[in-house]
Amino acid sequence: MLVSRQLSSVELTKAVLERISQVEPKVHAVVTITDELALRQAEKADELLAAGDATPLTGVPVLIKDNMCTKGVRTTCSSRMLENFVPPYDATVIEKLNDCGVVIIGKSNMDEFAMGSSTENSALFVTCNPWDLSRVPGGSSGGSAVAVAGGETIYALGSDTGGSIRQPAGFCSVTGLKPTYGRVSRYGLVAFASSLDQIGPLTRDVHDCALVLNAIAGYDPRDSTSVPYPTPDYTQCLTPDLKGLKIGVPREYFVEGMQAEVEKAIRAAIGKLEELGATVEWEVSLPSTPYALAVYYIIAPSEASANLARYDGVKYGFSYQDTDNMWEALEKTRQYGFGAEVKRRIMLGTYALSAGYYDAWYVKAQKVRTLIRQEFDQAFEKFDALVTPTSPTVPFKIGEKVDDPLQMYLSDVCTLPINIAGLPAISIPAGFADGLPIGMQIIGKPFAEETILKIAYAFQQATDWHKRKPQI
Ligand code: GLN
Repeated sequence: MLVSRQLSSVELTKAVLERISQVEPKVHAVVTITDELALRQAEKADELLAAGDATPLTGVPVLIKDNMCTKGVRTTCSSRMLENFVPPYDATVIEKLNDCGVVIIGKSNMDEFAMGSSTENSALFVTCNPWDLSRVPGGSSGGSAVAVAGGETIYALGSDTGGSIRQPAGFCSVTGLKPTYGRVSRYGLVAFASSLDQIGPLTRDVHDCALVLNAIAGYDPRDSTSVPYPTPDYTQCLTPDLKGLKIGVPREYFVEGMQAEVEKAIRAAIGKLEELGATVEWEVSLPSTPYALAVYYIIAPSEASANLARYDGVKYGFSYQDTDNMWEALEKTRQYGFGAEVKRRIMLGTYALSAGYYDAWYVKAQKVRTLIRQEFDQAFEKFDALVTPTSPTVPFKIGEKVDDPLQMYLSDVCTLPINIAGLPAISIPAGFADGLPIGMQIIGKPFAEETILKIAYAFQQATDWHKRKPQI
């Protein structure tokens, strides 16, 4: 409609802003609304569209998770530490989107510093699941997932360190992709665990997901871990036929304590992939999987404890000023600036890295990480993709797990092994249990985003789970 000028970008942007004002009082997904910037960008996009100079994303509104630096626009990480931080530069993904002439409508709520699985760890406010407002939207990219599901944006960006794109995508019934580590630049993403973090799209369907990946993927000399491989046109692989593809179903992902309805829906969804022409092996084993959670909760906090050392009240962010004593200023800055979960991670990481414990915890975890990666490599000698549930349960109640960090951590058992191995994975809507969304995860070989997008696309062509919308 934009290209044929049936609709202008300004009209579309106003409609989205209007929708935000309607549903935001119920879902609380957005931290900052950049309406003036959005309308300016929309006017510019309309000029490009009129001149026939448009890319597929030109003039289309996007919401950005609030841990990606946006020049001149507050970037809070949903933390008191960065509540008033205005970055002097754009993250690479923002530059790339701006080059496409997009419309940035705002920044979305998240778990503080992306640590969490429910968006309840935001220091600003709690975001609600649009399918049931008394439940969590997942996390940490909860605001982005809710906004896509609730029509507050056309698409969003999230970041995924252990599941933070896929798990909220599953909980809100949208499409969410974590690209291969190195596929998308992390420059300008506030660092949580640098060897695991990756930015990706949250969208309404797989086709949109491919379009957004086209725009943000690629080598960036400013991120030394980004990989100089050519970026294909990801829409080219979207064909609804799965003949010749081999899919494995790893049994360890159907964990004890998994909700029966989730297992049933995922097995039915995998049956659908078989119907569509894929060959499915239903009993594959990745025996190190049960160690992934422990490995993650040593490596991620270790990296976090180093990354978060920069918040000292001197360089930027919150600064405790009420003292002449430097050490007291440092201590109070961090005491007030960080929430409970962030402090817990810093303590865990500092402990695991300290002299005397380093070999026993950190080095051991890195060794098991290698084993996990090798098991995936072996599985991918036989299969083109692996399919699992995104989470073992449907969205839980707000407050249900806040006092029990271990229970909260378990919500990512199916997603975090993928970050440990650096693989690409997508979550797509695959059913409902009592009106609550269920997500299916498709895992691919390194840099084989095309394969998982193809499988996900074929599934969406044959089902309509992704078309259902929550009544807010
Ligand atoms: N829930 C996981 C954690 O708390 C993953 C978070 C993420 O992917 N950013 O660390």
